[in-house]
Amino acid sequence: MGSGLKSGRRRISIFGSTGSVGRQTVEALNRLGGHESFEIVALTGGRNVERLARQARVLRPQLVVTAFDECREDLEALLAGCPVTVASGSTALVEAADRKVDWAMSAIIGFAGLYPNLQLLRQGCTLALANKESLVAAGKLVTATASKSGSTLLPVDSEHSAIFQLLLNQPRNTIETITLTASGGPFKDASPEELARVTPEQAARHPTWNMGTRISIDSATLFNKALEIIEAHELFGIPAGDLRVVVHPQSVIHAIVGFVDGQMLAHLSTTDMRGAIEYALHWPERLGPGLERLDLAALGALEFEAPDEDRFPALRLAREVLDLGGLAGAAFNGAKEAALDAFLADEIGFTCMSHAVEATVNSLAGNSELGGDPLDPAAIHAVDSLARVRLGEQVAASG
Ligand code: NDP
Repeated sequence: MGSGLKSGRRRISIFGSTGSVGRQTVEALNRLGGHESFEIVALTGGRNVERLARQARVLRPQLVVTAFDECREDLEALLAGCPVTVASGSTALVEAADRKVDWAMSAIIGFAGLYPNLQLLRQGCTLALANKESLVAAGKLVTATASKSGSTLLPVDSEHSAIFQLLLNQPRNTIETITLTASGGPFKDASPEELARVTPEQAARHPTWNMGTRISIDSATLFNKALEIIEAHELFGIPAGDLRVVVHPQSVIHAIVGFVDGQMLAHLSTTDMRGAIEYALHWPERLGPGLERLDLAALGALEFEAPDEDRFPALRLAREVLDLGGLAGAAFNGAKEAALDAFLADEIGFTCMSHAVEATVNSLAGNSELGGDPLDPAAIHAVDSLARVRLGEQVAASG
């Protein structure tokens, strides 16, 4: 399917339009002419109904959904007089995903993005996928649903967009390794004692990328990179043993593909999510003006170092999860999301998050639920819920 920019108005929905990726997608559409260039089908958000209503007044979608029923009344009041349908709740999100579109952005944060994603993929659209959690928890189901309907999955995570671009026209049997880069986060050189005292406010300040709070904290623990290892495995079918992570503090190189002849290709750009968002929006074309250009001479040097898996055990955990197979990804993601909730609520410390997630995954490793069918949404949901309960028990026991 072409980008459709020149061939009439593409039908577009944005799930999670009020978040960091969602806002940048809305801005990209507005720069390209908004409702005059595109037919906006649905916008969805969560609690930020003021922003959602502002976006709706400009982009004029058919449908606006807040994920939370308690926010619906406010959203309706804010959109009074607008010719738009307002809905709320998780069922309404899935119904919104059932409305026919050519292209959709999946930028809901967390496991909550899975069900709208599956519905979008069933209808056979092009799905720009920022929501990595659905791939970690349900990678086999997501990719099988896309294959069945002929949907195109375009990764929006910057590293995975980079890999997607690097792999174009490269036969799979020539790929030896894929290396994801990590900035190392704000505490790259912190001692274990300093790490133990990190607050949510400190953890949310990412050194190179401007992102939402939850993904920024996940970057500080390297959980984000751990999710990305699993995401790369699910998206590109690369075995866990061929996936590498290197710390690269400048965040200029996003991914590197190594080939069987020892040569490597790298993807470089400024740290700006608009690159991956607009690549997915225009794909298979590449349109300008795009990003601010990199000044390599001004940069001077690019540095690389091995990640410290003792201080940041999340990467080791990701490999263990891939080795476990089955529904271990759903357990890992559910436990990780619950650990982050507990950290944000000041119930556990920064370093306790990885210990609690590891203990939760280990406690579930022999559990029959983990051997459930990875193509069964109910089995995935059950493991996600169980992992959250077990994580809560770990937190209670540690307090
Ligand atoms: P944000 O937290 O900034 O935004 C998340 C969006 O999801 C908001 O629209 C939010 O609504 C909505 N939302 C929150 N909870 C729910 C729920 N339970 N059900 C439905 N919608 C909900 O996240 P980001 O934009 O940072 O990240 C979105 C996804 O993209 C994540 O999976 C992340 O890992 C991935 N990603 C993000 C990058 C970035 O630069 N931010 C980079 C690469 C990947 P509201 O705000 O109105 O409450």
